[in-house]
Amino acid sequence: MRVLLIGSGGREHALAVGLAADPSVERLFAAPGNPGVAAVAELRDVTADDPAAVAALAVEVAADLVVVGPEAPLVAGVADAVRAKGIACFGPSGAAARLEGSKAFAKDVMAAAGVPTGRSAACTTDAEVTAALDEFGTPYVVKNDGLAAGKGVVVTDDRAAAEAHARDCGRVVIEEFLDGPEVSLFVVTDGTAAVPLMPAQDFKRVGDGDAGPNTGGMGAYAPLSWAPADLVERVMAETVMPTLAEMRGRGTPFAGLLYVGLALTRTGPKVIEFNARFGDPETQVVLALLATPLGELLHAAATGALADFPALRWHEGSAVTVVVASHNYPGTPRTGDVISGGEQPGVIHAGTARRADGALVSSGGRVLSATATGPDLAAARAAAYALVEGITLDGSHHRTDIALSAVEGRITL
Ligand code: AMP
Repeated sequence: MRVLLIGSGGREHALAVGLAADPSVERLFAAPGNPGVAAVAELRDVTADDPAAVAALAVEVAADLVVVGPEAPLVAGVADAVRAKGIACFGPSGAAARLEGSKAFAKDVMAAAGVPTGRSAACTTDAEVTAALDEFGTPYVVKNDGLAAGKGVVVTDDRAAAEAHARDCGRVVIEEFLDGPEVSLFVVTDGTAAVPLMPAQDFKRVGDGDAGPNTGGMGAYAPLSWAPADLVERVMAETVMPTLAEMRGRGTPFAGLLYVGLALTRTGPKVIEFNARFGDPETQVVLALLATPLGELLHAAATGALADFPALRWHEGSAVTVVVASHNYPGTPRTGDVISGGEQPGVIHAGTARRADGALVSSGGRVLSATATGPDLAAARAAAYALVEGITLDGSHHRTDIALSAVEGRITL
């Protein structure tokens, strides 16, 4: 089949590597892609969140399947426009992508479906904000209602900072703090049938020891040896299937990738957030371990054929990815710095560009993610950090403790 992949970040590079390795994928196009994606796919230009432009490109390249990576095109209705051309698309409709596009909508669906999650209040006025902060107490959790590229959430004990974030956002969801290790579970679904991938853990804070502000994600690893044996089964039964049923009942079935962000609290797994697409950088580690051909899996989901899809196969061992970020990220990142070591196998490109002279340069906050597998987590971790050592990028920074507490057996439930 001919596949068109939409997006330009690390998630899309990881998806492109997976799709290119699938023998059923005869030709792989990516738009707009990045210099890493260019090594495994034919790049085309497109404005990714322009539904008509993406649909026209899908027709032009005679795609049998379009895979939409990022959330903004999905929320903008790119999947609807592609399907309207009679082309299979992996990614939810604009209406279903509201599960990510609006935190208040997601909370409403969760309440209707009886999904375990934190208590919350949607707030627009100062009075509502004050009442919600008083009710839920510290640490305060204040979330921008709309899309914010993983940076719309403030978790703080500082009342003034919580109030300032609420004012800046205008419309927020304030919720109860959920205490416990976080897990990301990706679920591939055609709207009715659903197939969970391997749970992963990511690292949201910029600094070692989870210090500093939230980012889009600084690293990830899988599998989670410390997670309860029944975790996936429980989340499928308590959260995923009821949510999919609720979305079908509303006439907006969710087909694509349902990302369930969970906190494993003392009273069980509770939803922190839903996303409507693969998470970055967890995709890098989950796909590094997936042995099932990725294109076949996504095509089955996009064509309503997931119920008959064979059980997923996984490689033995573990995977770790470490994000190398630009100077000043997650503040306004410095870009245009020359990168060396970016072409090592396993180095996934997120924010890179080719300069006119051919040099690889940084073009975003998260620049690369060094991804490696190994027979166990310690070996995978050592291999990922060895890749990082081979990268030079002036002013860059990375966390040095990705997967460390799991290797040392320090995660307790
Ligand atoms: P989100 O964009 O909703 O995933 O939030 C980003 C990060 O903020 C999450 O990965 C958590 O680390 C943290 N967070 C969000 N909501 C909560 C919550 N209710 N309790 C504790 N931490 C939270």
